Amino acid sequence: MAVYTYPNKQEQPVAAHVASVEQLGIAPAELQHTLKLAGLLQTSLEIDTILGFFIDALQEKVEFDGVHFEYHPLQLESRFGQKRRHTCSYRLKLAGEFLGELEFSRRHRFSQQEMEQLENLLCQLIYPLRNAIWYQQAVTAAQFDPLTGIKNRASLDQTLTREVDLAHRNKTPLSLIVADIDLFKNINDKFGHSAGDEILKAFAKCIDDNLRTSDIVFRYGGEEFVVLLTGTDGRSARAVANRIRKAIENFSFQFTDENGNSIEVPLTASLGSASLTAKDTVETLFDKADKALYHAKEAGRNQVVSFQSIIKTA
Ligand code: GH3
Ligand code: MG
Ligand code: MG
Repeated sequence: MAVYTYPNKQEQPVAAHVASVEQLGIAPAELQHTLKLAGLLQTSLEIDTILGFFIDALQEKVEFDGVHFEYHPLQLESRFGQKRRHTCSYRLKLAGEFLGELEFSRRHRFSQQEMEQLENLLCQLIYPLRNAIWYQQAVTAAQFDPLTGIKNRASLDQTLTREVDLAHRNKTPLSLIVADIDLFKNINDKFGHSAGDEILKAFAKCIDDNLRTSDIVFRYGGEEFVVLLTGTDGRSARAVANRIRKAIENFSFQFTDENGNSIEVPLTASLGSASLTAKDTVETLFDKADKALYHAKEAGRNQVVSFQSIIKTA
């Protein structure tokens, strides 16, 4: 049998392929449809784009009004058209790997023949969908810190660039808090690195638990964390920073030693806050918050300093 390679540079391989497929009893029009969809499905790794191509191709074969796709592990959900009463649902799997749930709906029942057509086309979707999910998993993993599970510095760079741009354009307030654990090196030295890791995880969670849903915490690196507060002015940012500082001071940080005993470690953090002004860039805003943090450390740690207060006292 002729091998069809994509992209097809000379076009002849299609004819060669048609000849061989005719021998198998597949109509050329059917083959064209299949090849067209197969080609399109290879052009993207975006799940919605792939589903869009699939739905367009399917619409030529089976009538339906709505499609719903859901992939829980990455909290992905896509809807196309209108959901109707009669549904036809599939739990997609490839070699044991779950690839999401796909549901088609319309006003009247799907016939057996229509479901067969649908399933024939699903065979074409499954590999491109698996690749798109793997790609999405990699993109997501690249945005998170594996130790604490919160967003990482790469994600901060991306998000901050976007939010600073939006804040300038819409003239809305934006603030940043940089938090750094006090004398963390002593904890590692005294209790070991894995105890330090346990405490870092709890520290990230403690900050996250004290934020509004619109605020985002990132692990900037080591024992330094950044909180991005959209729509928040300097005064409110200071209040959030103070709340975080108190929560950390009052939280019972613990780790389990080699004998299985729970050891409590007193912990504090210093925080610097800064708010975006019309002249600020991502870099200058970050530098301001970092400078404020430096002042908090200099002033004796376990405190909040805002960049605004440094200028006033200077
Ligand atoms: P300061 O109050 O001035 O911030 O003092 P510090 O000891 O916290 O600061 P320093 O920068 O001297 O030390 C930071 C320590 O954080 C040293 C490093 O070993 C530790 N650290 C950084 N990343 C990790 C990590 O992922 N796990 C653990 N256990 N420790 C880490
Ligand atoms: Mg520190
Ligand atoms: Mg540090």
